[in-house]
Amino acid sequence: MKVKCGLEVHGYLNMHETRSKLFCNCEIDTEAAPNTTICPRCTGMPGSKAMLPNREAVDKILAVALMLDCTPNERLIFQRKHYSWPDLPNGYQKTMSGSYAVPVGENGSFLGIGIEEVHLEEDPARWDPETGNVDYNRSGYPLVEIVTKPDFTSAGQLRDWLKKLVTLLSYVNAVDPNMGIKADVNVSIGPKFKRVEVKNVNSFKSIVKAFEHEILRQAADEKEGVKFEQHTRAWDESTNSTKFMRSKEQAMDYMFIPEPDLPAVHVDKKKITNMEKDLPEKPAQKVSRYTKKMKLDKIDAEVLSAEIQLAELFEKVAEEIDPILAARWLRRELLRVLNYNKQELADLKADEKHIKQLLKLVEKKEITDKTAQKLIEKLVEEPFDVAKYVKEHKLGAVSDENVIEQYVKEAIDENPKAVEDFKAGKQEALNFIVGQVMRKSKGKATPDAVQKLVKKNI
Ligand SMILES: [Zn+2]
Repeated sequence: MKVKCGLEVHGYLNMHETRSKLFCNCEIDTEAAPNTTICPRCTGMPGSKAMLPNREAVDKILAVALMLDCTPNERLIFQRKHYSWPDLPNGYQKTMSGSYAVPVGENGSFLGIGIEEVHLEEDPARWDPETGNVDYNRSGYPLVEIVTKPDFTSAGQLRDWLKKLVTLLSYVNAVDPNMGIKADVNVSIGPKFKRVEVKNVNSFKSIVKAFEHEILRQAADEKEGVKFEQHTRAWDESTNSTKFMRSKEQAMDYMFIPEPDLPAVHVDKKKITNMEKDLPEKPAQKVSRYTKKMKLDKIDAEVLSAEIQLAELFEKVAEEIDPILAARWLRRELLRVLNYNKQELADLKADEKHIKQLLKLVEKKEITDKTAQKLIEKLVEEPFDVAKYVKEHKLGAVSDENVIEQYVKEAIDENPKAVEDFKAGKQEALNFIVGQVMRKSKGKATPDAVQKLVKKNI
């Protein structure tokens, strides 16, 4: 069975960057009490007119379009998309989507999926159907919309792509990765390919589920000979299934017209060139460089490049430390400790200087892995001079065999049962004795020397 799926992905632009609404100066504040960040413009008062679009929002969308390899347009046109709904004070939404509009970028591609266009539009207000109340705080928030070609053929591919898309967008600070995304999911199966659009699916998980559900549902319909035409469905979160919404004949007529209150937005060619020059290296390019040039394993490379701050930290550390060692410590130890403390990398007060100090000691085997793990835990709490601390607290690795042998002899004397077990061929017994020696040395004995001396003394 052949499957085609395309997405219209919607997300809020990073609010710390855009700061105000798209067509007025109202502040963006998701914590504000209802109807407190509003003005005549975003509540659609008679006679109010849109201001020129938020420049930062246009720039962010341009960066997104370029990251998705789209061709940018130099004259952007908004249009009015009319529909009647309580969340829409003007009776129309200002959007760059539709027949008269000119989007920010077109004809791109990302990881094998074609991108039709990338555009900007305003968010409607929040309407509560239970109470009938409308909160206009959200009305006019800038939204990014990314329309893909119907190139997805499997749920796994869709899931992976969405995850990587959010990473890519966070590289240019266009979205806050914690804000989540929504999508309209278009699914059709062969040989007839009648397109079914599932509206407003509002999480990663549900987008993938909606896709899987539609394939099975359409295949079952086809098997039973149910005739259907192109139509629109709604996603029902509570039953994990889609419901009929409207047929092609009932399709909304949005009565698109070019927005008469807004001039075309001119995007300077020089600005595009400069922005292209300043774009960060894409995550996929990083993975390729890390694995090919730096010889990292693929998972390390993918984890490090999934967050631009982590990738940048790694690259700075790897200027002086063996990249494989640096990758291992950042990915497995630093991320482990941050996770354990429920912290984000952005919360980390220690910087590359501290990490380099620490890993230099590891690289030269001047401290053991055990000691380094403890030091990383301490660094996450607060930064300090690692080399000085190691010296002051005498944490340097002990490789003096006479010292280690003393610990080994003690451990052997104290654990006759484990010695017997080892002689009877139990490998775990050896690990146990080695563990005892490490404990006696407070983690400072070098493991190779311990192994060797334990075997020698038994
Ligand atoms: Zn306003």
